Amino acid sequence: MEYPKKSLGQNFLIDKNITKKIVSLTDVSNQNIIEIGAGNGALTDELIKKKPKSLILIEKDDKLVQILKSKYQKLKFIKIFNHDILDFNLENVVKKNSILFGNLPYNISSQIIIKILKFKKYPPKYKNLIFMFQKELGDRIIGKFPSKHYGRLSVISNYKLNVLNKFLVSPNCFFPRPKVNSIVIHFQPKKSNSYLIKNLSNLEKITQVFFSNKRKMINKNLKKLFNKHQIIKLSNINFKLRPAEIKPEIYYRITKIYEEN
Ligand code: SAH
Repeated sequence: MEYPKKSLGQNFLIDKNITKKIVSLTDVSNQNIIEIGAGNGALTDELIKKKPKSLILIEKDDKLVQILKSKYQKLKFIKIFNHDILDFNLENVVKKNSILFGNLPYNISSQIIIKILKFKKYPPKYKNLIFMFQKELGDRIIGKFPSKHYGRLSVISNYKLNVLNKFLVSPNCFFPRPKVNSIVIHFQPKKSNSYLIKNLSNLEKITQVFFSNKRKMINKNLKKLFNKHQIIKLSNINFKLRPAEIKPEIYYRITKIYEEN
């Protein structure tokens, strides 16, 4: 078997300054920590130095789990799950005020963030999310209205998350060296929302329909999704706008009205 595995997005952090910088974004000592894609433990080693109360590691690769076990199995506060994060019941292991870390496997990072955004409990129990993404994806997650990176992903993540901090990481900090820059983003959950959406899948659906054709004015899609009665409720929106010209809050309102159906 070939290592590192491209299919598992394995780009291991080799720059200690970066692992230190990531772990220093928030206070880890005596906290409940979860790390997604722990790999061979580059971030984990730094987390352990800060003496967390508990530390859960989730890693899909059997061989890397062997390495993690041999390094850490004597430490009683660490639990290692040999599991695919996408079908792992993550919300179940998130304790109150947990902090989630991860240098995420790039091929499934957007699925991981969506999975976390779909946690049932609101406001969520975690208090900090600190994740590394490929820069291009990170930009789309935090893209502000109005900017060129604003879009579906930022509308969805802005519904639940605030961005507290971020910094870029060069390809030289990894082995193997990725082709593109990366970005670390520190999120905190929003405590309240003026438009409470029942099911985030509906916001996914609405934004999917609207952003599938960025040049089109929204009126056609509105008429596709809504009946006359609902359209009246939406009538203070300018139907001639294009999807990227509409603020996140308007998407949340549109989704709420969609849910009344
Ligand atoms: N945290 C380590 C490794 C980051 S690379 C470091 O910074 O060096 C991403 C890690 O995620 C790899 O270890 C990879 O094996 C793991 N991974 C990939 N897909 C995964 C999945 N579906 N579930 C859990 N872990 C996964």
